[in-house]
Amino acid sequence: MLEVKGLCKHFGGIRAVDDCSFSVERGSITALIGPNGAGKTTAFNCISRTTRPTSGEVWLDGERIDQLRPHRITRLGLSRTFQISRNLADMTVLENVIAQSRVDGWRDLFKPAMSTFEIDKAMGLLDFLGITRIAHEDGSNLSYGQKKLMDLAALLMSDPKIILLDEPAGGVNPSLLEEIVGHIRRLNDQGLTVLIVEHNMDLIMRLSHRIVVMAQGTVIADGRPDEVRENPAVLDAYLGGV
Ligand code: ATP
Repeated sequence: MLEVKGLCKHFGGIRAVDDCSFSVERGSITALIGPNGAGKTTAFNCISRTTRPTSGEVWLDGERIDQLRPHRITRLGLSRTFQISRNLADMTVLENVIAQSRVDGWRDLFKPAMSTFEIDKAMGLLDFLGITRIAHEDGSNLSYGQKKLMDLAALLMSDPKIILLDEPAGGVNPSLLEEIVGHIRRLNDQGLTVLIVEHNMDLIMRLSHRIVVMAQGTVIADGRPDEVRENPAVLDAYLGGV
């Protein structure tokens, strides 16, 4: 479904992503892991076109997307979350979900006003995620985990076919973490393809069908969780602090 070919992103002399190639199969949960600074978030940013790649190609369902604008990519069915919630100040959770989903102008929530369609859809998603009770709470008063759920609801508003989750478990307490794992599994069971960046290895090993390992901007291993866990290059990258 998603193919990344020879992707590079250089910041001056820093090769954050350097000839990185991998693919994500339709219907899979694929994890992108690697030590700090490996280039995972930069790769995510290039795929979702939040950052312009230096070179390389990204294909979604046979269509080249690396030269498209982010909202076009969202329309083609690829949506992503950010490590830090994009929570908008002075808005309720419901308003946040709708505002963030307005890819062409998410700051203009009240021009036009929220439609019944948007409200129904957003409420349905909050219900799916078990957070209707906080729909009318101020988005800035939420716990870290609740913000992650709010972001997930916003992400689903565009009816994506593939979602990129950047550290969905980061800073989340253990019980909410299990909830988030359950939601990701449920979404995947319903046919959604998932690409996930996460440092929590236990979660990654339990959740992923396939793991792509990055170090120093490039892919050093790619396989099933049991294969990757035993891979000497992976152990070296983590333990050696590459
Ligand atoms: P982490 O797991 O710590 O979030 P990561 O694997 O997501 O790390 P990136 O955040 O993609 O790694 O960073 C890869 C490298 O690129 C790092 O050396 C980082 O300092 C560098 N980098 C990222 N963004 C920029 C930027 N805007 N300007 C300069 N260097 C950058």
